[in-house]
Amino acid sequence: MARYPDSLIDLIRERIDLLELVGRRVALKKQGTAWLGLCPFHNEKTPSFSVRPDKGYKCFGCGAGGDAFKFLMQTKGIGFAEAVEELAAMSGVPLPRDAHAEDPEMVRRAEHRRQILALLAEVREFYQKSLSAPGGQRARHYLTQRGLKPETVQQEKLGYAPAGWNALLDRFGGGEAAVELLEAAGLVTRKAAGERPYDRFRDRIVFPIHDLKGHCVGFGGRLMGPGEPKYLNSPETDVFQKGKLLYGLETAREAIRKEGSVLVVEGYMDRLSLVDQGVLPVVATLGTAMTPDHLRLLWQQTRKIHFCFDGDAAGEKAAWKALEMFFDGLESDHHAAFLFLPPGEDPDQVVRREGAAGFARRISGGIAPIDFLIRRLGEGLNGTEPEGRAALMHRAKPLLAKVKDPLLRELYLQTLGQRLQIPHAFAPVSPRVDDPAPYVAPRPTRRSQPLRPVVAGRTLAAAQRNHEQALLALILRHPRLMREREEELSRLPLENAQLSALLTELIERARASDDPIGHGTTEWFSSPELTRCAQEVLAAEEVSPELVDQEFAGCLISVHVKSLRRERMQLMRRIDLEGDGDHALTIRCRALKLEEQRVLGQKIIRDEGR
Ligand SMILES: [Zn+2]
Repeated sequence: MARYPDSLIDLIRERIDLLELVGRRVALKKQGTAWLGLCPFHNEKTPSFSVRPDKGYKCFGCGAGGDAFKFLMQTKGIGFAEAVEELAAMSGVPLPRDAHAEDPEMVRRAEHRRQILALLAEVREFYQKSLSAPGGQRARHYLTQRGLKPETVQQEKLGYAPAGWNALLDRFGGGEAAVELLEAAGLVTRKAAGERPYDRFRDRIVFPIHDLKGHCVGFGGRLMGPGEPKYLNSPETDVFQKGKLLYGLETAREAIRKEGSVLVVEGYMDRLSLVDQGVLPVVATLGTAMTPDHLRLLWQQTRKIHFCFDGDAAGEKAAWKALEMFFDGLESDHHAAFLFLPPGEDPDQVVRREGAAGFARRISGGIAPIDFLIRRLGEGLNGTEPEGRAALMHRAKPLLAKVKDPLLRELYLQTLGQRLQIPHAFAPVSPRVDDPAPYVAPRPTRRSQPLRPVVAGRTLAAAQRNHEQALLALILRHPRLMREREEELSRLPLENAQLSALLTELIERARASDDPIGHGTTEWFSSPELTRCAQEVLAAEEVSPELVDQEFAGCLISVHVKSLRRERMQLMRRIDLEGDGDHALTIRCRALKLEEQRVLGQKIIRDEGR
């Protein structure tokens, strides 16, 4: 990529009318020396986006800011070099030829590519005109029947490839070189080398496919009546590789940036229906399976992908492939959700029935990758049995092992472990409301049963939280307890994040004040959430005064034991997945186990002394 001298950049910046450039995307109103508008980079109702033609732009809401180059890069998702090219063309500043310009082969190939792109642009226009010509009447009728608005047809540059074998050849095929170019662009084909060429797309609705620069690089074509194949794509050419192209990505880019996410569907018409109904931003694979290149392309644009699949076996299979790709080489800050439509329905039917708002609700109700994984891998397994859980863990291992970031992999394993304790992920179990006996020492856990912690229909997390809650309730009512056991409490890891925050704040207060609870004040805690949390905790039943100390000691031990157990389970999952080369993890596991028994021993002694 050519590097441009600063003087040239300055010249372009000087010549560009920033107000005009920004004004193409943002409605601006003059206010003092600046112009104000709604920020294109975040959603807002009152303008905090300000432009000063001589200085640049700045958003006081989200902090976006910069010059003309930055604006183009941010709104279009392009690189600096591309922004320079575009603004140079806009301002009429000639750019020096790039470094490759001297290589004759490069020059020839670049020229050939340019010719193909120019031809495709002309053909796109030809198809568009054919749609509105008398011969395109049936195609227009078809699109109306499918419910597409004329604006959508226009905006998406849909066209019609006329019937017959020679429409393009007649129009663009004068001379051998022209026919060769049509062939190189994938627009005409032959039964065999040397035989007569004929048009590839005949009597079809055509969907132009664009690259990220907005060049038309190929077409998808759909039959209106019966016949095979229903959909036809351009063949692979110098400019068209369907595994690296997504339908609608170029037009969706701005909306992707604004929304921070993208919806991916499987076909042309699915995407068009959604766009037509105002569901944004949405892209489609070209009627083919998702590829790792598609995924890379999308990650360049966004951190969150919503995958939409039909609710049939084929959709489930495609979704699974997407999930495998999602985990493969997954980076932190990549998010996905899987949306499955009702069986037998496609996005078109659903959005026409439920509207954009209904579809948006479905999008936000998509399931997380880990839940999809559990649902799919848990098929045929009994989730109430340790063996079922272990089997699922084993099935999930190879998949999660693909996650490259070790921390992320660990987090997924943790989440999987937590999810596996939720019985309804599998066959339903009869709910039991009685409290599980919390102080029973766990049976020695064998490797074949790594996921034992579920207690008879109640999750460990729930039982755990109850003891954590009870502990906090005692402290809130009897602050002296905290002073007596401050050391121990400050080292005690709670599972519930909010209770943990509450405890931390209480301990800090206890160090600074005699009345850490701040009796008589309602807004004592640093946030309304914590205040609410404290109120919830205090809603629990009070313990009779003579039992307070005993209860407190019991809760403390219970929470302690469970935190040790939690840590040990996480280690075991790690050993299960990664193995333990130098036995460090196994040794740590044993130490935790001993510690657990020691703490439980206190409990037994305490109980005997009752
Ligand atoms: Zn902003």
